[in-house]
Amino acid sequence: MEKEIDINKTIRQHSEMEDFFTGGFTVRTKTAESKLQQSALGREGEHDSADSADKVAEIEKIAGEVRRCRKCELGSLRTNAVPGEGNPNARILFVGEGPGADEDAQGLPFVGRSGKLLDKIIAACGLKRSDVFIANIVKCRPPENRDPHAEEIINCFPYLQSQIEIINPDVIVTLGAPATRTLLNTNKPIGQLRGQFHEYSAGLGSTPIKLMPTYHPAYLLRNYSEENRRRVWEDMKEVLAALDLPIPEHGGK
Ligand code: SF4
Ligand code: URA
Repeated sequence: MEKEIDINKTIRQHSEMEDFFTGGFTVRTKTAESKLQQSALGREGEHDSADSADKVAEIEKIAGEVRRCRKCELGSLRTNAVPGEGNPNARILFVGEGPGADEDAQGLPFVGRSGKLLDKIIAACGLKRSDVFIANIVKCRPPENRDPHAEEIINCFPYLQSQIEIINPDVIVTLGAPATRTLLNTNKPIGQLRGQFHEYSAGLGSTPIKLMPTYHPAYLLRNYSEENRRRVWEDMKEVLAALDLPIPEHGGK
């Protein structure tokens, strides 16, 4: 009986989510399309195609290192490592916590239930998954989806740092508390951090990168309220505005 109620709730959530993230607004306008092409190609004039090819190779090199890595115990528990994927010239880098079961099975980030919701968030922004880069704090699945331990994060973080350095995004969007806290080096609750820009700094001498924390899609699925969905949309609107990208008109759901 209880199961039936849960299934109904899930179905309702899914259809409401469709409305919220994909309904009632223009995903693409002509202007959005051309700006997007620009965005997919990176900051124009800054990179020529040789640079681009180098970046692809550098990103692939990190991925190879991750796939061979055994620096922490998660390395021996994984089916596949999940280095991350996307456009090496992306202007937006999404950072999640770590692979779940679906990601571990496929070796790709955000391909399970949370991933489907992230896809909708990206689409609601008028973007495609191939416009952005998606990575995680830890590259191998923690057993039973537990939070990654501090030691695992410390061992794995250099891979993400290298990815950030290569991609050099204009904005990093951290999904949930572990990603946000790691990149901002803070212990504050996500509720206090989200909604405004912070800065990620790779260290002395490096230019800080704008960082917007928002809720993790899994949190959103568990705490599915109009208020929380609105908050995520508000965060993403800030990101689009900072990038001077068009903000798709929203259905107001
Ligand atoms: Fe290496 Fe990171 Fe996997 Fe640990 S989680 S084995 S540090 S790639
Ligand atoms: N949750 C994450 O944090 N990362 C993934 O890749 C998938 C689910």
